[in-house]
This record gives sequence, structure tokens and C-alpha cells, in this order.
Amino acid sequence: MKILFITSEIHPLVKTGGLADVARALPMALHHLGDDIRILLPGYRSVMPHLSNPIVVVDSFPYGLLPAEARLLSTTLPDSPLPLWVLDCPALFDRSGGPYQTDEGVDWADNPQRFAALSQVGAWLASAQNGLSWTPDIVHCNDWQSALTPALLKFQGNPTPSVLTIHNLAFQGNFAPEWVSLLNLPASEFHPESLEFYGQLSFLKAGLVHAHHITTVSPRYAREIQTPQLGCGLDGLLRHRRHSLSGILNGIDELWNPDTDACLPFAYSVTRLSGKKKTKEYLQKRLGLPIDPKCFMVGLVSRLTEQKGIDLLLDSLERLLEYPVQIVILGSGDAEMERRLAHWSSRTPQQLHVSLGFNEALSHQIIAASDLFLMPSRFEPCGLAQMYAMTYGTPPLVHRTGGLADTVVPCHITPTGVSGTGFVFEIAHMNDFKEAFYQAYDAFQDKKHWLQLQKNGMKQDFRWNKAATEYQDIYQSLLK
Ligand code: ADP
Repeated sequence: MKILFITSEIHPLVKTGGLADVARALPMALHHLGDDIRILLPGYRSVMPHLSNPIVVVDSFPYGLLPAEARLLSTTLPDSPLPLWVLDCPALFDRSGGPYQTDEGVDWADNPQRFAALSQVGAWLASAQNGLSWTPDIVHCNDWQSALTPALLKFQGNPTPSVLTIHNLAFQGNFAPEWVSLLNLPASEFHPESLEFYGQLSFLKAGLVHAHHITTVSPRYAREIQTPQLGCGLDGLLRHRRHSLSGILNGIDELWNPDTDACLPFAYSVTRLSGKKKTKEYLQKRLGLPIDPKCFMVGLVSRLTEQKGIDLLLDSLERLLEYPVQIVILGSGDAEMERRLAHWSSRTPQQLHVSLGFNEALSHQIIAASDLFLMPSRFEPCGLAQMYAMTYGTPPLVHRTGGLADTVVPCHITPTGVSGTGFVFEIAHMNDFKEAFYQAYDAFQDKKHWLQLQKNGMKQDFRWNKAATEYQDIYQSLLK
């Protein structure tokens, strides 16, 4: 099957969160299953130097919307056999800062144009007029940044089936209505049954209305987004489309394996855990924390936002630090949360280490070195880090929501053994969070039980194969 997979980020070229990991791992799994999958990505400045032998396959586009200098480059994703098309359009993508925001954390003002361009090129690649010897059987879009593609295909009368995956419903790409004409979208489509969402142009809604099938990244989140609590105003539409909506649990990339992980100083596996202990010592040294193999090391790697429940942690920190723990945090995001974390770590540098910023290697090391991994998200479409943590023998502590509830089994300790894989709290409130933390701390004191809990997590199968075949089933059903 020929699949065009459109994404605004992909590991290892550009990453702000889980989408980047999924955008590599799912196409890899589909490729291994025999599909002919090609990826379309914007050519951000940070991406361009890392492309190996890019070839120009299109040197101008037949669209007024794209600036004159816009080309399509063909290459493969680094360290993979995956064909990659890169939209090289300097006016839109050659700038410092992140893929969606300036260095100061402000959304790029021309984001509608940048991602309409991506969506348009996606639709064009799916048309018989593309001049290439390849057109897809299926177009698979991800999040709002490519969600206009299904709408454009519809408006252009192109019947190619489209799938839209929601990685986070809270990010919708809603813009002032003036953008409808600025982007040459049909004015007649600006109404609540198509492009309009409460007076604004909504990229995500356009995709949710027009995609042939919608998926999201866990079964529970698929149900949650049909409720007013987590539907972000789109729950009515999603209930309406429930027969074309599937929740498919993400897997984790083969790169996340403690036995082969190039970011780790020591390898380990479920039958050989000594490398995990050494990694803990390595990290304590690296971060200037007291070297103490027995100390309960608690890790967190996350965007620092309210969604991720970082405020629950901040409000509990004083109490948590009364315990003999080391807390290691890597993240970036909300300026006030960053400030509060930096303040706490300057007060208690022997117990709390905070790294602000994005650091792929350090994220692997924290997940590997820690004894417990925190993920108190208020809502979580799937969440990858808790699955990485379990695979790395680091039981997670999570809120019972979305993909966290679908992947972490609450631990039960009885005289005869330990069942479950982590610690789960019911209500996103600091009291529940702290209770779960105390439970984890107590459990850690019994080394035999803790080891069992670690092994339970490490034996889980989070590989992509099963999910990839579920996507294949959806593609097949659309082609019938
Ligand atoms: P989301 O996509 O909502 O941010 P996920 O748990 O699905 O959350 O994926 C987050 C991914 O980003 C994980 O791979 C996590 O390790 C990584 N990550 C988050 N923050 C950082 C950071 N500051 N540095 C390195 N990796 C990070």
C-alpha cells in the first residue's frame, strides 16, 4: 500500500514532543510490514543541514500560496530506510527558533500560512497532476498542522482516502477568519459544518470534519474526547463521527531499548540490571548530586505545562523533599513553572536537580537512572514517557487518564508477590498525587518487591507491530 504520511516533526530531525517519536516509529513499523510509506516534513532551518544527499524533485509549485522559492527535496530519514520529502521553503521555514514558536515562546504569526503550505503540498502530492511517478493510496495526516489536507482533498474532488490522527486535541490551529481568504480557502466552506469553529478558522476541525477516518492515540482518550470534560469544544463533532473514530495505542520505538540505547553509559536488560545501577551513579555524578545508590531517585522529563500536572508536583515539592529523595527534572515550557522549579533547586541543590531545555540524551539517562518516573498529567492522549520508563525498569507514577490509564497497571503488593507496573492516582489533585508518592516510597523500601515491580514493567510488550496492523486495517477498510 502507498501511504503519504504528513508530519510537522520527526525524530531525529526535529522534536518538541511525542509526535516526533511516533512519526518515525509508526512509518518504520509500516515499512517493515511491507508498505510503501513516504513522509512529508517542513524544511525547518535546523533540519536542512542534517539531510543526506537531498535531491530536488520539484523546483516550483503551481500555487499562489507558496512563496516563489519553494522546492520539494527527496532524501531518506537519517539512520533509516524511510523515504522523506522535505518542503524547502525558506520564507516560511528558514528561521531560528522552534517549529511552531519563536525562541521567546511566541507562536509564529504566519503559522496559518506555514502549515497551510504543508497541507497544500500534501494534497498536491496526492493528486495525479503531481508530475511524480508516485501517488498515495492513503494520506495520513497528524494534528492540526496537516489537518487542512483532508479538507483540501475534498474541495479539489480528490477521492484519495485520508486519515487524521489526533495526538492532542487541545492544539487546534484556530486562527482569525481573515485567514480563510488569505489562504485561498473557499469562503463557502466557512461555516460550522466545515472550517469554522466559533467564528475562527480551525485547521483541526477542518480535518475532523473531512478526513475519512479519525484516529487518536489510545482507546481511553478516544472515549474521553467525546465528553465535554476533555472534548475541547469538539466533543459534539467527535460523537457525531464516533463510527469513524478509533483509539489505537501508540507503541514505542525500537530505539528505546536499555540494552542497545546509544544515549546510555551502561547497557542493561531485565535479566541484567546492574547497568541501571551504574547509570544512576553516572547521573548523580554528572548532575553533581550526592552519590548514593540507595537514595530514592525520582525522575521527570516533560513539557512544563498545566496539562502535564507540573503544578501538582510544584505544590507538593516541599513535602516530597522532606523524604530522603533525589528529584531530577528535565523540561521546558511555562515561564512561571520554570522559575518556580529553578527557585526550588537553588534552595535544595543536593536533592533537586532541574535542567531547563530540551536534551534528548539526558532524557534517556534520567528515565534509565531513576527509580520512579513521574507523569501526573491532567489529561494525556497516550503519553510515551511512561512506556519508556516501564521498559527501562523505572515504575511510573501517573494520573488515571487517557493513555496513562491504558498502559500503567496499578501495583498491588501481597505477601505472595507484586502485580501491576506502577502507581496510579485517581484525581488530579496534589493530595492524591502525594498519597501515590508515599505509596511508591514505601514500596521502594522492600527491595524484593520493588525488583518484581520493575520486572513486571520491563516485560510489557509496547512494540509497534500490533498498532501498525490496526492502522493497516483502517487503511484497507477505506480502500474497499
Ligand atoms: P507530549 O507529546 O505531550 O509532550 P509524550 O509523553 O507523548 O508527551 O512525549 C514526550 C516526548 O518528548 C518523550 O519522548 C519525552 O521523553 C520527550 N521530552 C519531553 N520533554 C523533553 C525535554 N525537555 N528534553 C528531551 N526530551 C523531552
